[in-house]
Amino acid sequence: QTAFIEKKFFCYYSDEMFQVLVQQLSMEQDLRTASEENAWEVVYQPKLSLDNNAIVGAEALLRWNRHGTYISPDVFIPIAEQMGLIQEIGYHVIRTACSFLKQIQLTESRSMVISINLSPSQLMEPDFVDNVLKITKHYDIHPSSITFEITESTFISHIERVNETIQLLKDQGFSFSLDDFGVGYSSIHYFSRLNVDEVKLDKTFTESLTYDMKNRIILHSIVTMAKTLGIAIVIEGVEQKEQLEIIKELKCDFYQGYYFSKPVPPGEMLQLLSLQYQTSLSQS
Ligand code: C2E
Ligand code: MG
Ligand code: MG
Ligand code: MG
Repeated sequence: QTAFIEKKFFCYYSDEMFQVLVQQLSMEQDLRTASEENAWEVVYQPKLSLDNNAIVGAEALLRWNRHGTYISPDVFIPIAEQMGLIQEIGYHVIRTACSFLKQIQLTESRSMVISINLSPSQLMEPDFVDNVLKITKHYDIHPSSITFEITESTFISHIERVNETIQLLKDQGFSFSLDDFGVGYSSIHYFSRLNVDEVKLDKTFTESLTYDMKNRIILHSIVTMAKTLGIAIVIEGVEQKEQLEIIKELKCDFYQGYYFSKPVPPGEMLQLLSLQYQTSLSQS
């Protein structure tokens, strides 16, 4: 054990703590390099209509391959946020999604909506609206093809300012989704205070639907309330047929989950789209 002595204060660092520190620093260094080189991949998870099982959109999800190992965004996004890298990474995701939307329009001659996750600090950036509009113009993408996903953490301290930015973007045609609903402190409160077009139920809630009668009742009332307010309900993390049947019964609008597909690279997403297009042609 090493002791660092500074005036009256004693601080003991064990080898283990030292290792953790070294790992954290090397992770930060690699994140910085990845950010400089835009060494990210974006994968897409289909979003389907519960009415007819058609693919209506996809969620863009970031992947980081660090020396051959995939690091979960749940791990590296918070670090990127602390390091102030999330804005740059965020713009990269928006550019990538726009370029993919263009490709879909050209090859599938159909439109689709891509959902993009935003970190709180992105919406707080003064130039965010201008920069996003520059990107969509550059790729010739209409804002109605993009939905931004935000979480309640976005609103904890700056609800007025964030609401203003959301309104500015909505005036341009972008839409908004409240992600991870049903966990944390997310509540009925947000339904009235926030101008969102869609609410996305968290996958831990989805998971409970098959065995938790109370949660089914809660979902039923969320759906009723959302319908009255003109807000769509997306169910995330659908893995089983049984869950799909419950959410159909409860008249939810859309779903995502491993039951239909995991997040896939852009090429596979295009294949899923064209496969569905062919099936719908052969049925009509
Ligand atoms: P999220 O936005 O709530 O995304 C849903 C997560 O659930 C994704 O994890 C997705 O791969 C996973 N998932 C989808 N279907 C299923 C299922 O049926 N079962 C299970 N167990 N999981 C399912 P992923 O890709 O690891 O992303 C984790 C989180 O990282 C996201 O949660 C989002 O908050 C954040 N994230 C991902 N990409 C970005 C990004 O580009 N920007 C920002 N700011 N955050 C991002
Ligand atoms: Mg999301
Ligand atoms: Mg979510
Ligand atoms: Mg999440």
